[in-house]
Amino acid sequence: MNLAKFPRRGYVTNPTPIEYLSNFSKALGGKVNVYVKRDDLLPGCAGGNKTRKLDFCIADALAKGADTIITCGAVQSNHARLTLAWAVHEGLDCHLVLEERVKGSYRPDASGNNFLYILLGVSGISVVPGGSPMLDEMEKVASDLRVKGKKPYIIPGGASNALGALGYVACAQETTEQLFRMGLDIHAIVVPSGSAGTHAGMVTGIYGSSADIPVLGINVSRTKETQEELVYKLVRQTSELAGVNHNIPASAVTCFGDYVGPGYSLPTEGMIEAVKLLARTEAILLDPVYTGKAMAGFIDQVRKGAFPDGSNLLFLHTGGSPALYAYLDTFK
Ligand SMILES: *Cc1c(COP(=O)(O)O)cnc(C)c1O
Repeated sequence: MNLAKFPRRGYVTNPTPIEYLSNFSKALGGKVNVYVKRDDLLPGCAGGNKTRKLDFCIADALAKGADTIITCGAVQSNHARLTLAWAVHEGLDCHLVLEERVKGSYRPDASGNNFLYILLGVSGISVVPGGSPMLDEMEKVASDLRVKGKKPYIIPGGASNALGALGYVACAQETTEQLFRMGLDIHAIVVPSGSAGTHAGMVTGIYGSSADIPVLGINVSRTKETQEELVYKLVRQTSELAGVNHNIPASAVTCFGDYVGPGYSLPTEGMIEAVKLLARTEAILLDPVYTGKAMAGFIDQVRKGAFPDGSNLLFLHTGGSPALYAYLDTFK
């Protein structure tokens, strides 16, 4: 794999830290050592995982002469916020198509990411009902803009195509290099699994370099089977694009579907406990939609004894804390 051959914008200037969580490890009983990779500290307005993917996707948009980015997400989408933020940075317009996955959940005056869309000067927002074909909805916006003489470029939800997932192939390489320097042998890496680019990129990077550290995905919206299929499909596309010269087996993709609760973005007891525990033991902010649920799944697996005593485990913190401010009632 030679990722340097792909154009990118250089948004990721330094490796994000890998930190040992001593207080949190103790709070879980002290039998495993929990480390966190701080992708919540990535550059870009308020940080988070989409910066790594947008580094590649926006480079492609600029190479194709785009002057406007169109993307989509849920009403409190971190991906929409970061796409808009990097578009602002590049002097590009940005239109957002927001999917109201929970009926009545879009409020123009909401806090969190919604507030930031306005503050960052979004060019346009269209809200569509849950289950709408998002690519078609974005195409509609694109053709309207073309009529007006604009050159739009569509980035899919979560920037989770093979090009965007390269950002997490690069993260896997960055991580194994850091672990080598730290002399740290990791038993498993735990990641939130949503639109799948993060999970698929990490699997492609880790297994594509034959490091073969298990990468465990905790789902935030889908069942185990559906998500594993989605992730593996993207692993195959990403490994082909990246030039991995062996077949990564389907068994490299493991998802946990038991921590979604009533549905995407809807609070669970485990999520509330996880967000509070990380805040109170390590002063690290998780988010209610992704990392809170992923950490809840991780905590449950540790408590069930899923990992050997003494093992070192790495949780990938993908960001998202601005969404906390749209969930004040949940944490009261
Ligand atoms: C988008 C997002 C994820 C999920 O990453 P995918 O690549 O979509 O699976 C996890 N955490 C946060 C904070 C996100 O915004």
